[in-house]
Amino acid sequence: MTIGVSILGSTGSIGRSALQVLARHRDRFTVTALTAHSNAELLEAQAAEWRPGFVGLVNGGTGEAGRGKGTACLVEAATRPDAQIVVNGIVGAAGLEATLAALQCGKRVALANKETLVMAGELVMRAARDGGGEIVPVDSEHSAVLQCLAGRDPGDLSRLILTASGGPFRTWHPDELGNATLEEALRHPTWKMGRKITVDSATLVNKALEVIEARYLFAVDYDQVEVVIHPQSLIHAFVEFVDGSVLAQVGFPTMELPILYALTHPDRMPDTGTRRFDPVAASSLSFEPVRPELYPAYRIGRAAALAGGTAPTVFNAVNEIAVQLFLDGRIRFRQVAELIETVVERCSPTAIRSLEDVLAADRHARRLTREAACC
Ligand code: NAD
Ligand code: MG
Repeated sequence: MTIGVSILGSTGSIGRSALQVLARHRDRFTVTALTAHSNAELLEAQAAEWRPGFVGLVNGGTGEAGRGKGTACLVEAATRPDAQIVVNGIVGAAGLEATLAALQCGKRVALANKETLVMAGELVMRAARDGGGEIVPVDSEHSAVLQCLAGRDPGDLSRLILTASGGPFRTWHPDELGNATLEEALRHPTWKMGRKITVDSATLVNKALEVIEARYLFAVDYDQVEVVIHPQSLIHAFVEFVDGSVLAQVGFPTMELPILYALTHPDRMPDTGTRRFDPVAASSLSFEPVRPELYPAYRIGRAAALAGGTAPTVFNAVNEIAVQLFLDGRIRFRQVAELIETVVERCSPTAIRSLEDVLAADRHARRLTREAACC
């Protein structure tokens, strides 16, 4: 018997990496569903190769049997009875409902879509508990933490240190950021990823999202989650235990390793598809503190995390809109952080009791961001 895997966002960077991993392990896994937003050509090519029972194209699908369209196709793909694992490689808030639906019907969600946990961490963790589902992180830092923790009592954990490459502006003077172009922001030094997360890495918003993600995945307090700049992206996270001992997970940057681990956790599967680590080739490892003056949005994200309630939801929503405006050439790089500051300040956090509370806070923050940007 093979394990059924549905891939949401199969045309993206994570989705394509997931299919590369699965292509090396066709004896163990079957692709049960594929979804994409609008890249019909690539989705059709993937469907022709993998022949899944369901294919969903949010923007332009046909809606015939086995061919979904609209946002409902994401939930349909996430809840297919023949899938045991759902890889969520959707970017942004669009991934939330499918994650909740998959967890509620007992699936393992291999989660790359960190925005889901930032927007609605409590609801997502509750859906997993209630539905018997399980979240296994695909994000490389969280996969690293999970691998270091494997089998240990969470009570033994004292501190997590997530690494960040620092992005393309790590060595810039803060005054120069006003001149940063889109092309420069998209030139990530170590990882090849989708455009939104690449900009999030340049602002370090990505690491603020990951701090929040870690809090929910590993049930830690925010003062137990630290971030260090590590330009080589070879160590993905450190885990410190109560006795002071520290474990780290190491590897050349590729998402195929954490994707494979999310499929096989807590087991491992032989795989020779990725470049093996070589300490001599890696040469030196260096670490630097986060320079707050270079990454103002990171500080705001951490403060929103501490404020709790809808504050992280708002932080995520304003960032999504601001990054899209920057990618569309309608605002400058520095305005991403400025918009985040303005909108987060304007939205007083309120408690989250239901999905509707999350969606309302998300909508409100998006509207305020567009108004503040005058777009
Ligand atoms: P990407 O832009 O390359 O791909 C996004 C995918 O989501 C595409 O298949 C697209 O069709 C789909 N999509 C976009 N908008 C959608 C919508 N409204 N409804 C349904 N589907 C939609 O992005 P990516 O780099 O693969 O990142 C995906 C997620 O994984 C993000 O949350 C990101 O933070 C996370 N992540 C990515 C990496 C990486 O290496 N790329 C690493 C860690 C975490
Ligand atoms: Mg990451």
